[in-house]
Formats: sequence, C-alpha cells, structure tokens
Amino acid sequence: MTQHTDAVVIGGGQSGLAAGYHLRRLGIEHVILDAQAAPGGAWQHTWDSLHLFSPAAYSSLPGRFMPAQEGEVYPDAGHVVSYLADYEKRYELPVQRGVWVSAVHRDGDFLRVETDSGDWRARAVVSATGTWTRPFLPAVPGRREYAGRQLHTVQYRSPAEFAGQRVIVVGGGNSGAQIAADLAGTADLTWVTQRPPRYLPDDIDGRALFDAATARRQALDAGRTDTGGIASLGDIVAVPPVRAARDAGLLPARPMFSSLTPDGVVWPDGTSAQADAVIWCTGFRPALAHFASLRLRGSRGHVATVGTRAVDEPRLHLLGYGDWTGPASATLIGVGRPARDAAREIAELLGR
Ligand code: FAD
Repeated sequence: MTQHTDAVVIGGGQSGLAAGYHLRRLGIEHVILDAQAAPGGAWQHTWDSLHLFSPAAYSSLPGRFMPAQEGEVYPDAGHVVSYLADYEKRYELPVQRGVWVSAVHRDGDFLRVETDSGDWRARAVVSATGTWTRPFLPAVPGRREYAGRQLHTVQYRSPAEFAGQRVIVVGGGNSGAQIAADLAGTADLTWVTQRPPRYLPDDIDGRALFDAATARRQALDAGRTDTGGIASLGDIVAVPPVRAARDAGLLPARPMFSSLTPDGVVWPDGTSAQADAVIWCTGFRPALAHFASLRLRGSRGHVATVGTRAVDEPRLHLLGYGDWTGPASATLIGVGRPARDAAREIAELLGR
C-alpha cells in the first residue's frame, strides 16, 4: 500500500523532531518515520556515564528549553531521552516508530520512500538518520587476526565489564577521551591517539562551541571569511570526569600503533602491548544507504548540499550529520536553524 503526504522525514531523533517542529509550524503535512521502538534517537544507546558537554539550556531544540536536570550542570543521556520524548508529545509530532526506510526513489513529481511497512509518496523528503548506526573502524593491519574483544564506541556501556582487563582505547576525540576517563582506575588502560590529545581550555564547554558555530554561520551568511569555528583551539571538551582523570595523571596517551597481533598491538618502534580488548572510538559516517538509487554526487561519504538541500535532488534535504549540513547542525541546539531553513524551502517548493 502506498500512502501520500507532503513531506516524509526519515529519522525521529533530535534532527527529525526539529524538522517536524518547523514543518508543523508552516502547516506542512508530514510524517516522521523512525526505525526504533522508542523516542530518543541515538541517546538511547550511549554509554552509562555520558553527560552532555553543555548545560541544559544550551542543549535545547526549537520552541522548548530543555529543563535543568536536578543535581547536574551537564545533563545525562537519560535526561535527553526524556526531553525528546516530551518534545514530540508536546508538539504532537506525527512519529511512526519501528519503521525502517530502505530506499528513496524518484517517481515523477514525487519521491517514493520505501519502507518495511509500505511505501510513502511525498513532494519532499528530509533525511535525519544521524551517524550512530554507521560506526567507522579504520583499516589497521592485523585487525582481523586480533583474537581479543573489539568494540566500537556504540557498543561500550560501562567500565564494570572491563575491571582488571588490559584495554586499549583508540581515538583522541571526545568519545575516546571520555571512555578512557571512564575506564581509568578500573581497567589497565592504554589510551592511543593519532596525535597528542588537544584539550580545549578548561573553561570552554559546549556553550563556547555553539557561540563559535554561530559566529561562523554569521560570517558565512554575510559573505565574510570562514572563521573555521573553534576547532583550531582543540578537540576535547574537558568535561569534569575527563578533567579529573587527566589532572590525576590517569590519561597519558601513546601514539597510534602500527598493527594488531593476535594478542595485542605493536608500535612502529617495535614496542608492543598485550590487550584483552580494543575499543575503537574512531568516529562515524552518515547513515545514507537509503539514497543509493538516487545516485547523488558527494565526497567522503557526504551528499553535496547547498545549506540542507541536496544539489542533485532539490526535493531532498539533509539534516544533522555534521557541519556540512549547517554549522553545528549535529548538535541539539544547532539543528534548529537548519531545520527551519529546510522547512521554509519545502514550503516554497510546495507553493505555500
Ligand atoms: P540520531 O540521534 O542518530 O537519530 C537518528 C534516528 O534515525 C535514529 O532513531 C535512527 O534509528 C533512525 N534511523 C536511521 N536510519 C534509519 C532508516 N533508514 N529508517 C528509519 N529510521 C532510521 N550533541 C550535543 O548537542 N551535545 C552533546 O553533548 C553531544 N554529545 C555527543 C556525544 C556522543 C558520543 C555523540 C556520538 C554525539 C554527541 N552529540 C552531542 C551530537 C549529536 O547531538 C548526537 O549525535 C545526536 O544523536 C544526533 O541526532 P540526530 O537526530 O541527527 O541522529
């Protein structure tokens, strides 16, 4: 059976909800299709100790402030899930759960969205599928031969299961630093980073990141030189647990090893370490497999966009994912503006 609507939003995490908020405000009929059984997007699956890197008010979607979490300056992931669940209820967003979108096809004046529970035909599609379902692992020699446990950020839950084990954490970004800090003191930890860890100044948290993204967006909007955001200052937000572990000397970092062996890793200088587990905190790629048949141009796994609109398919918008769909678009507070722009462009397309 094929159903019809003006716009289909694929993905019901924060980005999909922000799109729904603005589509609803503009009176555009739409549906939000989400693969998961419950609200909250990727926040349902993070490790137990994860806290946001910004206070609640700096982690809000359009229209509704995230309330503060009692006793926490930086809310935890459970608080974000509750906020998102409340958000979609409050704005009566038309989310259908447990629906997997397998493909999007061109169909004359429409786009046809193929799902495991029937097709939808729509004049516009917003893709907001995030990156969590596409963990990235680098091709390091020996990775297949290594006999210990290998997992990615997405599978890590808590230090308890690694107590007393020799664990190598790979990655110098926020996930790597936070998971290394989580394990320090419980596991026999080796933290490996491609370049020496670059901490942002201790007084900088997500608020400053967002301010920098705003300054960047304003510069770009005004045709001024790209300010490049805050990336030049460092990679790691020194959230309290990371700062504490670092200051206690528990987070020394070693350079990247050159290969894995059946029982550990070897560095270019010939030194080696045995390991019971290797945790790859090596990032994500955008989940865009559903666009395969549209043959959209792009590079590095991205789709070429102007703002949020796909260059090769003007009825298609991409939201979240990373800065390439709008400065800070892959953050709670940053996705509101690109979501608004996408909804406005869809309204124009529909002649509203
Ligand atoms: P997701 O939350 O991943 O939601 C996408 C939804 O689409 C999911 O429900 C998924 O199941 C569904 N989906 C995917 N493919 C399909 C399909 N084919 N069909 C149907 N449904 C599909 N941001 C901040 O603002 N503050 C922070 O402190 C912060 N910390 C972060 C910490 C970590 C470890 C990570 C990884 C990210 C962090 N972010 C933070 C960034 C960002 O806010 C999150 O990644 C956020 O989850 C992205 O939301 P999203 O809606 O774009 O994607």
